Order: sequence, then C-alpha cells, then structure tokens
Amino acid sequence: MGDWFQTVSDRDATESESQELGAAIHQWLVDEGIVSSDATDCVPGSDIGYPPGPNYQKATGESDDHLLKLATNGLDVITKRSVFHSGQGGFELICSACSDRFEAPNGWGDAVSQWYENKGPGIMACPHCGGRQPINEWKHDPPWGFANLGFEFWNWPPLSDDFVQTIGERLGHRVVLVSGKL
Ligand SMILES: [Zn+2]
Repeated sequence: MGDWFQTVSDRDATESESQELGAAIHQWLVDEGIVSSDATDCVPGSDIGYPPGPNYQKATGESDDHLLKLATNGLDVITKRSVFHSGQGGFELICSACSDRFEAPNGWGDAVSQWYENKGPGIMACPHCGGRQPINEWKHDPPWGFANLGFEFWNWPPLSDDFVQTIGERLGHRVVLVSGKL
C-alpha cells in the first residue's frame, strides 16, 4: 500500500513570506489540537513533520483509528518553491478564459520549468482562444499547485472543504487542494 498525501497549496504566498506564514498556520493547528507541536520523523524522505494531535478530526470531519498507528501520518510544512501534483496518471488543462479543456499543449513544460526555476511567470497561451496566462492561473485537472508554501498531510482521511477554506482565509490567499499517491 502506498502512502497518500493531501497538500493545501498556497497560490499567492511569495518566497519571502512563506516561512513566516507556514509557522503561523502550524501554530494555529497546534492551538486547535489538530497537529502536535513537536516535529518527528513521520513524513516521507528526510523531512520532519508534525504528527496528528488529539483533535485531528477537526480537519477531516471523521476519525480514523488506523491513522494514529501509522509511521507516516504527519504534516509536512513545505516552505520552498514547489510544483505539487498527484504524482501519477495524466491530467488536463482548463483555460480560465474560455473554459476549454485539453491535454498539455506545446509550451506547457517550458512554462512549468520557467516558473519552477524562478525565471518568470511561465506564461502559456490557450490553443483555443489564445488567452495568455501564467502557469499558476491555469486550472489543472486533477489539481496541481504552483506554490512557495504547502501543507502536506500524509495518510489523513479526506480533509474537509471547510478546513481547506479556513486555511485559505487565515492565509488571506487562494489555496488549492492537491492530492495523490507517492
Ligand atoms: Zn482559452
């Protein structure tokens, strides 16, 4: 069984504010009892994360006894420039101007690289209407996140819409939920 993740991805945070905002949201999650204040080895890779707190159900709406027994069950607060995606399968793009939907057009990879390498916004034109938008404004289905800040929950039950929305409100930013399997 693979590990699955849900990442609340901040579409608007800048690189210079991601650290502070990440810490502020973590503190709020600790105050709510949703995650622990102490970081442990509970997320994949070399990162450390925060295990579920006594009230983790506030984030999910449902409890899962299994979660607390897992070795990988933490929150990883990611404060570096990242492309969050489901990690498997295909995806489509939806133009926010004309709502047309299609597979990644020529130029998509370049736009992603440009954004990721911080060399520009990664402008890409819609093959249908010609509208030009930064890669971060393109809707991906399933969702992708282009972000300097992400809250990655490992093996948690589905995060509730309310919870995801509340994080966005506390950040004062647009957020998108990206999920997938490792
Ligand atoms: Zn279009």
